[in-house]
Amino acid sequence: MAKKIALEEHFLSPGLVDYWKPTMTEVAPEIVGGLLKKLTDFGALRLEGMDRNGIARAVLAVSGPGVQVERDTATAIAKAKESNDFLAGEIQKAPDRYSGFAHLAMQDARAAADELERCVKQLKFCGAMINGHTNGKYLDDPSYEPFWERVDALGAAIYLHPVDPVVPSPALEGYKALRRATWEWGFETGSHVLRLVFGGTFDRHPRARLILGHMGETLPYLLWRFDSRAKLYGVKLKKPPSHYIKDNVWVTVSGMFSAEPLMCAIAALGPERVMFSADYPFENSDDAAQFMDSVPLDEKLRADIAYNNAAKLLKLT
Ligand code: MN
Repeated sequence: MAKKIALEEHFLSPGLVDYWKPTMTEVAPEIVGGLLKKLTDFGALRLEGMDRNGIARAVLAVSGPGVQVERDTATAIAKAKESNDFLAGEIQKAPDRYSGFAHLAMQDARAAADELERCVKQLKFCGAMINGHTNGKYLDDPSYEPFWERVDALGAAIYLHPVDPVVPSPALEGYKALRRATWEWGFETGSHVLRLVFGGTFDRHPRARLILGHMGETLPYLLWRFDSRAKLYGVKLKKPPSHYIKDNVWVTVSGMFSAEPLMCAIAALGPERVMFSADYPFENSDDAAQFMDSVPLDEKLRADIAYNNAAKLLKLT
């Protein structure tokens, strides 16, 4: 069994449960209860699953949307800080098994940058997980420049996690089963990344490191088309769009335990850009690990994807 680091592994702190519950309205109450039990556990339930699957370390992150849907900025800032301190306390109880991504109140770019710095420098977190747009504002917005400057300065990784769009697409009208993780989130999150690429965020911050789940939210499959159309539309960037996705983006296999897209991600982005993850507890860690351990791969590459690539990116050993 390959030794693994998993980095899209969710938890909930007591103050953030009420932001999460509305995302579960379509799910049966007994399933929601089971998920909540796993999200708020940092002991046997989580650790036994990690042990069973060779997950040496889990980088924990809030299950979204968290404070990013809070309308009052001061409340969002205070609750994010409280959640980060809570996570730091849990990590302290098992520092050889857990690491953390910061939760940030993106309503205020400077406060988010300050909290990221506090989390990275004082709490030794690996970076931050951001749950998509914040009340409709995406990360290419000019108001986020101070945030990206700090991300650059800290060398922190930003995991961009899906969230519901501001307005559901009319194309999905009448098909609830196509919303969220089925299809909607891939387009929403992929579009968010393309806003950063086409908006020049990575030209201004070439050291920014973005992590995407779900094998890259379909982007690795589409690189040629981005470059071809960017030329046609006269997009003014220093490099073709695909180069930013190859240079600034890492992807994980979270919630996408399938060989074909894995091969595409490796071929499109490079073997050092793909990492393991489960998306616990929304996916089964047993399924994730079984996929990682059995998918046909050269053993050196399996070890890199399962552990080494994440250890290098997040400076974990
Ligand atoms: Mn997730």
